[in-house]
Amino acid sequence: MTKIQILQTGTVWIKAAQVRARGAGLMRIYNGLFDADWSPELPIYAYLIEHPEGLILVDTGETARAMRRGYFPLWHPYYHVGIRLNVQPDDEIGPQLRLAGFDPRDVKTIVLTHLHTDHAGGLAWFDKVRVLVSKQEYEAARGFAGRVAGYPNHRWPKNFTPELQQLPAIGSDLMDASMPLTSDGAVRLIAAPGHTRGQMAVSVEIDGIMFLLAGDVSYLEQTLRDGIPDGLGADPAAQLQTHARILAMARRRPLVYLNGHDPNCRQRLQDRQTLQPPA
Ligand SMILES: [Zn+2]
Repeated sequence: MTKIQILQTGTVWIKAAQVRARGAGLMRIYNGLFDADWSPELPIYAYLIEHPEGLILVDTGETARAMRRGYFPLWHPYYHVGIRLNVQPDDEIGPQLRLAGFDPRDVKTIVLTHLHTDHAGGLAWFDKVRVLVSKQEYEAARGFAGRVAGYPNHRWPKNFTPELQQLPAIGSDLMDASMPLTSDGAVRLIAAPGHTRGQMAVSVEIDGIMFLLAGDVSYLEQTLRDGIPDGLGADPAAQLQTHARILAMARRRPLVYLNGHDPNCRQRLQDRQTLQPPA
């Protein structure tokens, strides 16, 4: 039977106006960076899917090394003004997998929803594992341009060679841009652009419910329901379209929304609390 476990790799604070955008255009970015108000302490989640074909890990969380000065490029403003982390060595994905009863070597496939530091930071725990990233995400994240765009790619493992995924074109339905990851079709990759242009979500079918492991489609379920993009995402219009496709899906069938940082995810997973779109 397929099962999902939630793993937490420390916590993060970002600006309130990064969680919920304020203003448009350049003001959105300015507020997302320089807002005087911080978010509450937010969890950094990864998700483990136990499937008959093997363990699938969705995101790898953050590393404790990110707490050290100089881990991120010192010239990049975001790491100075926009983010505070609390990740201790025992919070990393390796110890968290062991707490859940597994070993990092048991993981067969890693899906990175996107390559931001708090999703790709735990990669060093894994050796010779199949890692899936969208081609568009990988191309946006590599090189100096990637570092400017907020991807600390100089911290990727030296042997980082993900399998680049190209999903079908986006249509009006959420599942148009999706493809199966398991042979029974119960686990699928879905294009979920907006927060980053190449972001992927993962859907898992269990007992007639779609569990949507959504990365940073939104930081909170509430901002998704409210139709508010985040403050520093790459393409807020695309993000709102992704929100609309998810809400449309949730109107048609039970869908549990599980993302990277919403403190209510643990409860939603445990109680199978479905996403209730606004009337
Ligand atoms: Zn992100």
